[in-house]
Amino acid sequence: MNISWDLRRSTAARRVFALLLLAATLPVGALALLCSSRLSQIVTQQAQVGIVQQARAYGAATLHRLGSAEHSLRLIAAQFSARGAGSSIFNESEGLGFDALAYIDGTGQRVQLHGLSNAALSPGNAVIERLARNDTMVLIAPVAGAEPKVILVRKTGPPAADAGVLIAEINQSYLWGARDAFADTTDVSVVDESNELLFSTKARADSALPAFNSDQLGLSSGQISWNEGKEERLGGYWKISLRSRFSTSNWTVLASQPRLAAFDALSRFGPIYAWVLLLCVLIAALLATVRLRRKAVARRQETAIPGTEEACGSDARAGLFGRDDAGLEESKNKAMAVRFERQFRAMTALSEIDRAILSHATFDHVVESVLRNAPNVISSDLFAITLLERDAPTQARTFLTFPRQGQKTDIQRTPMDASVTALVASRPDGCWVEGCAKYAFLTPLMKFGATRFLVLPVFWDGKLAAMLVFGLIGKQALSEEECTYARDFADRLGVALTAAAREEELKFQAHYDVTTALPNRRFFKDRLSQEIGRARRESRPISVLFIDLDEFKKINDSIGHAGGDEVLEQASRRLTHCLRADDIVARFGGDEFAVLLPSIAAAADAAKVAEKLISNLSRPYVIDAREHYLSASIGISVYPEDGESAEKLLRNADFAMYRAKAEGRGQYAFYEERMNALALDRAGLELDLRHALSNNELMLYYQPQIDLRSGQIVGAEALVRWKHPKRGFVLPADFIGVAEQCALIEGIGLYVRKAACAQYRAWESSGLVLPRVSVNVSSREINRKDFVEQMEALLRDSGVRPFCLEIEITESLFIDNFEHVLKVLKWLNNRGIRIAIDDFGTGYSSMAYLKRLPFDTLKVDRSFVKDIGNPDGSDAIVAAILSMAQSLRKEVVAEGVETEAQRAFLALAGCEAAQGYLWSRPLSPEDFEKFARNWTLAPRQSASTELRSKQASG
Ligand code: C2E
Ligand code: MG
Ligand code: MG
Repeated sequence: MNISWDLRRSTAARRVFALLLLAATLPVGALALLCSSRLSQIVTQQAQVGIVQQARAYGAATLHRLGSAEHSLRLIAAQFSARGAGSSIFNESEGLGFDALAYIDGTGQRVQLHGLSNAALSPGNAVIERLARNDTMVLIAPVAGAEPKVILVRKTGPPAADAGVLIAEINQSYLWGARDAFADTTDVSVVDESNELLFSTKARADSALPAFNSDQLGLSSGQISWNEGKEERLGGYWKISLRSRFSTSNWTVLASQPRLAAFDALSRFGPIYAWVLLLCVLIAALLATVRLRRKAVARRQETAIPGTEEACGSDARAGLFGRDDAGLEESKNKAMAVRFERQFRAMTALSEIDRAILSHATFDHVVESVLRNAPNVISSDLFAITLLERDAPTQARTFLTFPRQGQKTDIQRTPMDASVTALVASRPDGCWVEGCAKYAFLTPLMKFGATRFLVLPVFWDGKLAAMLVFGLIGKQALSEEECTYARDFADRLGVALTAAAREEELKFQAHYDVTTALPNRRFFKDRLSQEIGRARRESRPISVLFIDLDEFKKINDSIGHAGGDEVLEQASRRLTHCLRADDIVARFGGDEFAVLLPSIAAAADAAKVAEKLISNLSRPYVIDAREHYLSASIGISVYPEDGESAEKLLRNADFAMYRAKAEGRGQYAFYEERMNALALDRAGLELDLRHALSNNELMLYYQPQIDLRSGQIVGAEALVRWKHPKRGFVLPADFIGVAEQCALIEGIGLYVRKAACAQYRAWESSGLVLPRVSVNVSSREINRKDFVEQMEALLRDSGVRPFCLEIEITESLFIDNFEHVLKVLKWLNNRGIRIAIDDFGTGYSSMAYLKRLPFDTLKVDRSFVKDIGNPDGSDAIVAAILSMAQSLRKEVVAEGVETEAQRAFLALAGCEAAQGYLWSRPLSPEDFEKFARNWTLAPRQSASTELRSKQASG
């Protein structure tokens, strides 16, 4: 075609060309700018979300590994307690994640059990003293020029022979994991509360990290950014809470990556924008050329046919484009504008939902946000989210919105067909369904006239958890673009569900015990504080029960930890079952539980509950078809008498529990102010007891034992006394229990045996010859590996003849470790040392045990003697014990004889000997000597005379 109109020279043509060019490039350019700014925001946000998640995942894994190491150390401590410092235990510590393992005994002696010794890693005395019995402490040991070492410190518990502390150095690679597990651009560091660098995947100075303290921020996780040199870094942190569990400062995991790394993917879009812009320019140029050519042709025709312009009217003059073309362009532009607008709305909607998820909004809030925003992006008529009930997936809750009628979110409950659930779950990209009876969950939408539905599945934990539903009235489908947005909304719901579940799990872990699913100490204390506030306002009492299962350790030792956990679960179920709905039961760890009774009328109600709990906890526990027996000791404190704060009530209930244990276990005790100052400061008592031996504060008193037939003194029981510099005389009931728990009993026992033998020899050489002296020996001592050697040395060094020495042991000893105890007793028996079973009748002795044990004397417990003459059957029990002892050919010594009637009964029933206030309280050595020397023939005669006269009358 020959066009004479020269386009290039025409000003109008140039103007048209420029106009078209501007019209094409300006929107694209503006869009590019807007998109890039919006995208950069989104990319930054998403990168930070990802970083926080990495920090969280790494923190959780590190906490888990620290927990595993602590568990290993606990096992070692438990084995240590059970087996003593045998080397075999500590060879097993290899592979448990420890580089080194050392043990510091009660005297400060350090034994390296595994790995290389490093004295710099030893905790100070102050740390050891701070360490509670069941706690493990994490310590950080700085190392010059390298990352600090992480140390675990734990006390070995009783009855280990020389309990002290175990110190384990955790292998760095085990604790922190592989450094190359993260992307090159990602850096993970761990800092403590003072911003000391504990670990970093990159070699860096801790000064390179931003100075912040997650504890001060008060958040458990969050986002930060900072400049490192010229590089801007995006970071996320997550706090590892260690204070309550490991008595150390909390750690913060900080993950970061350069901001530019996050924009890697985005940078690939730069050239695409340039190409799009170029394409626009070319298209605009092409269009302009075509349009101008057409115009040129038209002009030529106009020139050829005069008057056309007038005939065509103003349109021809006004526009450069024909009327049809202009309409087409306009509608295209409109469509494009609609699409852009939708894209913007979609981005705004999705980012609002992302923000809600990131700000830990509740799942319901996210649901509301999706239902509010989806109508701005998707042209569906009805919008619904159906949530399957977690525990009953055949039930569903549907949140519904019908924007056309301004209908607000509505919740309806509907049944859920399993086949529908399966169908939806099998179509991750969604499926179109027609409304019918089978889809009961669509009924609320059908009521508004919807006939066709797009149903998108939302998964959580690999299972269908919810459905996002779009209902159409009259329309048949949504555009492909809308379906993509619908999928985006469904994905966001999935993320929100996961975040909500994780939040819930973290909350659970923070407030509940995992083994029993009971509230933990923290939760209990919070509730107790609340209840104290309410009780104060309403002027009424509340009570705290502190429960400890007696000798739970023997369960763990005999059936392992899994069996022990099963027993704890059963115990927790029994506790919950016995209590009312508003009572709170919590597990404090180990075999300790606590109960809060918020609505009691008087303290006596708490005692009734305690009785009920003890009787339920004492029923047999069946594990693997075998029955196991346990009892429980309970301490009770009552608000406001025993304390007005949660700490005080708990501490006093704990003291009372110790009292219940000391008084024989399987019973409850109320806290009483007069529970003397010792109980108030158990920790202080333990500290003082450590110095008692070296400060010569311990001494022995002796109580005479009288032959009921001849009236002669047949022995003396040595009973330890502690003359405390401030507290005065302290009786064994108040410190033997503490000493047994912290292994001090071994030193005390050795002192008692040596002192009793030395005293016996001193009396002997001064002419006071006693048939025997008895000493009490605790189970912890007998379990010592070198007990036999100690006894041998005692006999050798003191010169006491073996049959003049009697060892008193209690029945509970046999249960713990029968075979070992049997071996030791046989040795003692062969060596000629006498053996007495103390407090007989209060423990678990069965005939099966007794028949196998080599012993000489049975000591009938004071609790039976006290009730002689009462109609509660004590007479019969004592008579039965005596006849059993006679059939086993053992001697019987009755304890705690206070009245003449008791003596007479025992003598008549054939009891050989007795001790008690009737004759004498325990006496100092000097007083005992006086007592024995003054022990005239008179009482002997009276005893034998009375016996003869009774026999004569009988
Ligand atoms: P146990 O071996 O059953 O000692 C008898 C306790 O009953 C002594 O209390 C004694 O003072 C008390 N008693 C004796 N006659 C009467 C009486 O007629 N009426 C009353 N109410 N009490 C009487 P003590 O000295 O307070 O000792 C209590 C427990 O402490 C002992 O019970 C024993 O289990 C333990 N214990 C005492 N000394 C030692 C020791 O050196 N080593 C160990 N491992 N335990 C010891
Ligand atoms: Mg005794
Ligand atoms: Mg006794």
